[in-house]
Amino acid sequence: MKWFHDGISLDDFLAKVSSSKQRVLFTDYDGTLAPLMYNRNIAKPYSGLVEVLNQIAAAPNSQVVVISGRSLHNLSSVLKMGSEIEMWGTYGWELQTVDGKRTTWPISDGARGAMYEVINWAENEEISTYLEVKTASVSLKWHGTDAKMREHLMELSLRIMKPLADKVGLELRNFDGGRELRVPGRSKCDAVEHVFDRLKKDNSAFAYLGDNVSDEEVFEVIGERGLRVLVRTHERPTMADMWLRPPRELKRFFEAWLAALNA
Ligand SMILES: [Mg+2]
Repeated sequence: MKWFHDGISLDDFLAKVSSSKQRVLFTDYDGTLAPLMYNRNIAKPYSGLVEVLNQIAAAPNSQVVVISGRSLHNLSSVLKMGSEIEMWGTYGWELQTVDGKRTTWPISDGARGAMYEVINWAENEEISTYLEVKTASVSLKWHGTDAKMREHLMELSLRIMKPLADKVGLELRNFDGGRELRVPGRSKCDAVEHVFDRLKKDNSAFAYLGDNVSDEEVFEVIGERGLRVLVRTHERPTMADMWLRPPRELKRFFEAWLAALNA
């Protein structure tokens, strides 16, 4: 664990969690609750985390909100919670509320056509195996491939994806182990703001935990409104307030959060 600020300590923050009327724990999934894996279908949460998160979700005036780049369908196949939690999929394009109701924000025909162009490009280059297609994004992933293939995919993505993104009007984003073309218009930040709008601003405490570039965007938007936690095996330059190494420090953080809720 490493704290990046002098002004406030983790104990101060947990005291705020204890005394607030609404407590929200926002967290990313891949790389945060679960290890980053090439085969994402087997990326299960670290041992013991779901149990603590269930207790946090079930505590009074307390919510757990998972915000992922995965589709909701895919997220629910790996994250099986006993309690109701709010889940956001595909970077804020899909929402499942605690009562199970699902909402998908519509993407335009133009954006859908643009995604098909990317899919066709990947088929022509014979790299479809490394492509993941979601509601509003197409990702090229080299995490877990051998060095030669990684180099090939990185080179292709550098040479082709940027002009392709410009041509078809998609946003190019890097992430650990790949590059992605996203339909513009929504992001994880929209999911967080959506939840904020529901909160009584003056008496709430929240933290956002994440590992990747899309989470750094959220850290920036949150600013000083909440605790920003980078979860990662290795430290890197970040906008976060603190850094936790998964899984042990992360589990301890959740346990401390739970203790603060019950204090
Ligand atoms: Mg992640």
